[in-house]
Amino acid sequence: MTDLKSQIITLSKEIGISKIGFTTADNFDYLAKSLKMAQENGTSSGFEHKNIAERTKPELLLKNAKTIISIAVAYPNKLPQMPQKSDYKRGKFSPSSWGMDYHHILTEKMALLSARIAELTDEFDHKAMVDTGALVDTAVARRAGIGFIGKNGLVISKEFGSYMFLGELVTNLNLAPDRPVTYDCGDCNHCVTSCPTSALNGDSTMNAKRCLSFQTQTTGQLAEEFRVKMKNVIYGCDICQIACPYNKGIDNQAQTTIDPEVAFPELIPFIQLTNKEFKAKFSEIAGAWRGKNVLQRNAIYALANLNDKTAISVLEEIAENPRNEVHQEAAQWALSKLKIRLLKKS
Ligand code: SF4
Ligand code: SF4
Repeated sequence: MTDLKSQIITLSKEIGISKIGFTTADNFDYLAKSLKMAQENGTSSGFEHKNIAERTKPELLLKNAKTIISIAVAYPNKLPQMPQKSDYKRGKFSPSSWGMDYHHILTEKMALLSARIAELTDEFDHKAMVDTGALVDTAVARRAGIGFIGKNGLVISKEFGSYMFLGELVTNLNLAPDRPVTYDCGDCNHCVTSCPTSALNGDSTMNAKRCLSFQTQTTGQLAEEFRVKMKNVIYGCDICQIACPYNKGIDNQAQTTIDPEVAFPELIPFIQLTNKEFKAKFSEIAGAWRGKNVLQRNAIYALANLNDKTAISVLEEIAENPRNEVHQEAAQWALSKLKIRLLKKS
């Protein structure tokens, strides 16, 4: 281990980075075929960086790239405290959207780390990436020894499970690379069999368009299958994480304040929020990026899934005086479900 590398590891701990790994800036050529196929077959989410050459060739992102520093910030999968008892039924944001948007947290930590590295060496040149950056975060993290890529497509470490946000710094530094971890899925197939939409292919790839996490973020009207399978989750999906044995007993510390009333919002008040009210309460979380209307659409579906008959009058109001066509259709659908159930009961 070089001196500079050990100093960077020490800095990362001071900054609150959960795990750090180092790999070469060699190309990820082996990914090109599957990335192209996913684009052509329409199985990618469409949120990814589009240029496949840039996704697989770090030197296109930084001319003198030599080492990629992979960074993981763990996030909690358990609420620090449960929301208050309420007469309203609640929706749920998945844990990746609890507390302040992780893009900000990771971006801040990476900026801080870069600034501290720049104090150690005059020659530091770098490019930082988080989530929708060019490189495939999971491939970088795997090669840098953060964890293995599970059949659910997520990077999994023994220390933090799959509850990690990933980012990377492509740098011009010459640092010794780490090795990939030696553990993996083995014979386990739990995530594949527990996925409600059969989105996982079993080889760490997925049809992202069938993933409920994608569906909750897409605009327009959703297919009936996805509306129902979302249950009460209004953003994301973590079923294939809950199923994973590597996540059992994981209790990662939160790096941000988590308001349980935001993480598990009361659904009827949620679908009535004005833009101003939504912004005041929800704008800091990752799930807010798609805006109020998509989340309210999901919340309307959730009310039907939870069979919440107390929502009927509010849903009727949305169906009759709609703010937009998607909400109107969602409310009509929810009402048909609720009223059918009422009729069946009477
Ligand atoms: Fe399936 Fe949910 Fe995992 Fe998506 S996030 S692959 S829908 S279990
Ligand atoms: Fe791998 Fe099993 Fe975890 Fe899926 S649930 S990622 S198969 S260990």
